[in-house]
Amino acid sequence: MSAIGYVYLVGAGPWDPGLLTVRGRELLQRADVVVQDYLVNPELVVGLRAIVEIIRVGDPGSRLEQAEINALLVDRASRGKVVVRLKGGDPFVFGRGGEEALALAQAGVPFEVVPGVTAAIACASYAGIPVTHRGHGATVAFCTGHEAGEKDGGAVDWAALARIHTVVFYMGARNLGRIALRLIEAGRDRETPVALVRWATRPDQQTRISTLGACADADLETQVEPPAIAIVGDVVNLRETIGWYEQRLLHGLRVVVTRSAAQQGPLSERLKELGAEVLQVPTVAFVPPKDWAAVDQALASVSTYDWVIFTSANGVDATFDRLRQLGRDPRAFGSARIGCVGPVTARRLDERGMVADCVPETFIAEGLADCLNGALKHEGVKGRRYLILRAEVARDTLPDTLRALGGHVDVVPVYTTVAVPPEVGLSGRLKAADFDVVTFTASSTVRHFAEWFTAEELAFVQSRVQAVCIGPVTAATAAELGFVVAATAEIYTVPGLVDALVSIRRA
Ligand code: SAH
Repeated sequence: MSAIGYVYLVGAGPWDPGLLTVRGRELLQRADVVVQDYLVNPELVVGLRAIVEIIRVGDPGSRLEQAEINALLVDRASRGKVVVRLKGGDPFVFGRGGEEALALAQAGVPFEVVPGVTAAIACASYAGIPVTHRGHGATVAFCTGHEAGEKDGGAVDWAALARIHTVVFYMGARNLGRIALRLIEAGRDRETPVALVRWATRPDQQTRISTLGACADADLETQVEPPAIAIVGDVVNLRETIGWYEQRLLHGLRVVVTRSAAQQGPLSERLKELGAEVLQVPTVAFVPPKDWAAVDQALASVSTYDWVIFTSANGVDATFDRLRQLGRDPRAFGSARIGCVGPVTARRLDERGMVADCVPETFIAEGLADCLNGALKHEGVKGRRYLILRAEVARDTLPDTLRALGGHVDVVPVYTTVAVPPEVGLSGRLKAADFDVVTFTASSTVRHFAEWFTAEELAFVQSRVQAVCIGPVTAATAAELGFVVAATAEIYTVPGLVDALVSIRRA
């Protein structure tokens, strides 16, 4: 017989992956088997070791009986596996974790229980309702809403409950009318405020405020789909002042981010912080040039140029990585001066240990040409030698401008941008236009995004969603290809793009 395994009953929290505990995360990384509830965010098991067996239980349609789940846990553990039983919220709060622990104890399987952020607490925090508050809430109760539907009110002592300041009901979405009635019958004031919080901590979280009286009269039961939590008590009123989650500037906005996977991070993070649901669908990826000969030759004589110019952070990376592969370092640049198209490119250069000599204030090629011209007024562009290290396909505004001013310009592609298809799982959502806004950070992202669709699909998507662009050149491409450009950044950077998005929300 193999060694006995171990079962961890882990609380996954309400939904937001950031609310899983550190212990829970550690255990997931060690698991051989994950047995997961349907109220658990599937993102939590993305990226686990490839050999992990993931079993979803409790999906509507494929429900395993509790006894079958218990048996499954015992079975995998007795085969020597490390099993993580991932349960929504906290395992021991209306989660039947107690029954699973009992089954494990009876079968002699060792286990550990890892608490989670329970829905009542998550709903309260994310709805801006402190469940206890000086003067309004000295006592708080967690209760199931199921029992309100029973003929006699079930096992709940409604009279006792009516005297508790704050009462939080789980599983009450369909029973709210009856819950309210029972509390009023038991002596609670009809004017007591009620908050109903649905899908707490998700980007589409919704909170509705009412009173016990109105709930009892209006029979809200048909109007709210689970999962939702009802919070009853005067503390609900505090939400008006300290509600924060649904009040965030982009709450609930579904935004597609099309830039390369390597560049998604800062934009996606910022959008999420502002409350948007971000769909990451990179349209492009960066690959090395087919042949390094031109780059190597340029790098061999790089110190002979007056100016070396980078037009993207990726160009900086590609150049410095290649330099290193050639066994050289930034001293290769000698006394050549360095120009960058914008601050992000300049920052990447800084990370490589070099400081840019010229960074224009408007972050497009025209700005750099002006800046170089200005920087060199006393010496002139005429007769100077420029090396532009950039993507294989790019606009020629900068080299053309410098040439027109009499400069000698060599353009060397240090990387190539290639189109990538959308992730299979997301293409259905994209075609159904199941999002509100698409962000474009370069003309190439517009073109490649449009290429994914048939003409008919594209027309449908364009009739439903708005585009927000990082600058006028990208916006022109988007408009040309039929997108409704709702806003364009005034400052051509990621923060500028985010501001533009916020402006359409406000409009
Ligand atoms: N063990 C879980 C509760 C499971 S019972 C916990 O500790 O949170 C399922 C009920 O929890 C749902 O009917 C609903 O009332 C509540 N619930 C779970 N997740 C929720 C969420 N994200 N938003 C609102 N209610 C939620």
